[in-house]
Amino acid sequence: MLNMLRKIVQDVTQEGNFAVSVQRLAAHIKDALGTEVCSIYLTATADTGYVLAATDGLNASRIGEVLLAQDQGLVGLVGRRAEPLNLEAAPSHPNFYFVPEIGEEPFNAFLGVPILHQGRVLGVLVVQQREPRRFDESEEAFLVTLSAQLATTVAHAEALGSSIVAGVSADLITNGQFKGFAGAPGIGIGTGVVMHPIADLDAVPSRPAEDITIELMLLDRAIEAVRNDIRSLMQSLQASLPQEELALFDAYLHMLDDGALAGDIREVVRRGEWAQGALRKVIRQHVGRFEIMDDPYLRERGTDVKDLGVRVLAYLQRIREKKTQFPDDAILVGEEITPAMLGAIPAEQLRGVVSLRGSGNSHVAILARAMGVPAVMGALDLPAYELEGAVVIVDGHYGDVYTQPSEERLRENQSLLQQEQVFAAELDDLKELPCVTLDGWRVQLWVNIGLTSDITRSLDRGAEGIGLFRTEVPFMSQDRFPTEVEQRALYREHMEAFDPRPVTMRTLDIGGDKSLSYFPIQEENPFLGWRGIRVTLDHPEIFLVQVRAMLKANADLLCDLRIMLPMISSLTELRRAKQLIDQAYAEVLEEGVQVKRPQVGVLIEVPAAVYQARLLAREADFIAVGSNDLTQYLLAVDRNNPRVAELYQEIHPAVVTALREVARAVHAEEKPLGICGELAGTPAGAMLLMAMGYHVLSMNATHLLRVKWVIRSIKRSDARRMLARVMRMHTAEEVTPFLNQEMLRLGLGKVMPARLGSKADKPH
Ligand code: PEP
Ligand code: MG
Repeated sequence: MLNMLRKIVQDVTQEGNFAVSVQRLAAHIKDALGTEVCSIYLTATADTGYVLAATDGLNASRIGEVLLAQDQGLVGLVGRRAEPLNLEAAPSHPNFYFVPEIGEEPFNAFLGVPILHQGRVLGVLVVQQREPRRFDESEEAFLVTLSAQLATTVAHAEALGSSIVAGVSADLITNGQFKGFAGAPGIGIGTGVVMHPIADLDAVPSRPAEDITIELMLLDRAIEAVRNDIRSLMQSLQASLPQEELALFDAYLHMLDDGALAGDIREVVRRGEWAQGALRKVIRQHVGRFEIMDDPYLRERGTDVKDLGVRVLAYLQRIREKKTQFPDDAILVGEEITPAMLGAIPAEQLRGVVSLRGSGNSHVAILARAMGVPAVMGALDLPAYELEGAVVIVDGHYGDVYTQPSEERLRENQSLLQQEQVFAAELDDLKELPCVTLDGWRVQLWVNIGLTSDITRSLDRGAEGIGLFRTEVPFMSQDRFPTEVEQRALYREHMEAFDPRPVTMRTLDIGGDKSLSYFPIQEENPFLGWRGIRVTLDHPEIFLVQVRAMLKANADLLCDLRIMLPMISSLTELRRAKQLIDQAYAEVLEEGVQVKRPQVGVLIEVPAAVYQARLLAREADFIAVGSNDLTQYLLAVDRNNPRVAELYQEIHPAVVTALREVARAVHAEEKPLGICGELAGTPAGAMLLMAMGYHVLSMNATHLLRVKWVIRSIKRSDARRMLARVMRMHTAEEVTPFLNQEMLRLGLGKVMPARLGSKADKPH
């Protein structure tokens, strides 16, 4: 059974044409279960009913024509209950709905199973038989298992804009409305620019060739380049590999011959597809053939074909990349937008970002926030590859994306965008003013920084210090570890720019989702693995070079150097890090460079550190909370996983309690307390944190003036009353509406998401 399941799923996932693949699926299921009918009903869009997408056994000419309302018939019942329905005699069930001409009359036994993806019903699989009988448990289990495995494929096909049903051209984008997660606030209106990851075959869209001759030429050049690579690889391995192993490379070269892959790809291009799309199609077909083979050796050969495909694709993309031109109002759309892609479009032309993967806590989202570009993440259902050149609206406050909008929707969003721009101009006047509440409570507003280009933006917005320098960011753009001299120059640039304001340098925080190409870390569970301080304590040579560079960069400057340690989970780690910092300090003095002793602080990001906050505060010079990771670890929710993004709640009562406990512990030791997670840059978060007594709020420069406006508009006594109410709440679902309502009551509607905040213009 398992083997059969695997074959069916593979067959369906390999097929490029979704309508054909569901039809094949129906036939496979009918065979596997020995039934007389298998039909697949899919939901056409979120709020319409079901359409017959495939059938083997009923009248196939009605595919794409039979439409059932959401609550109609047994199919509707399966969808509504979201559980299987197993009936001996379907026609006598009260929900049975007679569909003319579909040919269901003779069938009695009925088993319907929902296709569910992330709690949403995407369709229903149905098998039927004449003989009145209940399908047995193993048949039901088979169908349920199959449906669970197929759900992702169906969702993905939908997301990529596949026409669900042959003959039904689903226009998914006109007046389209799609849901994702808020990535970076703001509204962006512009023209879709679709980007796919480098050399990710599965992400290549189908597209007609603009010029077939050019596509053929590009293909030839790419294939020739791969041939050359393989030949030089063979040459360099000649001495170290036995002849039989080298034969593998010969096989590769043969596969690239005209008689094999290359010929097939060329043929698809000649029929009008662009080279990358043709490559994906042909490779997929070939890989599919290998993968359904029973022999494990042959199955593996599929991997060789795929590898070749990826190599050719890499060249095709390199050739094309240089040519890319972007519209002036680009909305960057893709399956998985990476920081590099963000950088590919000139900032002044970028109006918004939409990624099918990732969540509001992914580093791409953090980067978008830093750049002040609205972003929506995890918009899983968005037909991304249909959006090249389309009008796209990104609402980064709510995580909504609108495609090819109506005039009315466009006008509404243009006016919201304009309101935002007017408020932004008003905020500019706050730059030089102190961040102090109406009743005189002073809070420091510092910035999180990573790129040199952030310096001017931060100072322009009146930043009073650097609360978090993510030193791994400059490391990521190199192809080797930067030397002490290089690091010193980079750190110096920041310190000089901020002097005499304090500068907090976090020691290298790699691992998790941040990797260096030249220091790869492969782990099953990277967020619980070798990350942050764990890496640098195991590599004191990296740590010492970095600390020495920081100390020397600080020489002769007034600004305080604060060294901050990420991912601390025990006092032992703090003590070992302090010893190394002492060693670096002594070495620098020995070299004759006169430097001040730095302050050493702990970043509280791990639940263990919350419970030991007082002890850590006693031995450290300052404490800061990394609420992004702390939320992730307290709630056990991967900050990058869109599937669980809804569970990532920064104002979850458990998180709020932890933040307050840390504040109490650090106050008891009378040490400075800061926070540099994203929560600090949100109006509601900043109010609660200020009420708890966090002295320093560090955030992306983008949020600085908004937060200052909020703090300057309220009394601390009001914020403390609000905090006291929040501390008595049991769920995040209670906290959010309460905070929104309070902010409206206090006249803070302007900093709230546009649609909510506009209510504040009404008298209250
Ligand atoms: C945090 O975890 O809150 C933090 C500030 O660090 P990063 O987002 O870089 O992991
Ligand atoms: Mg962190």
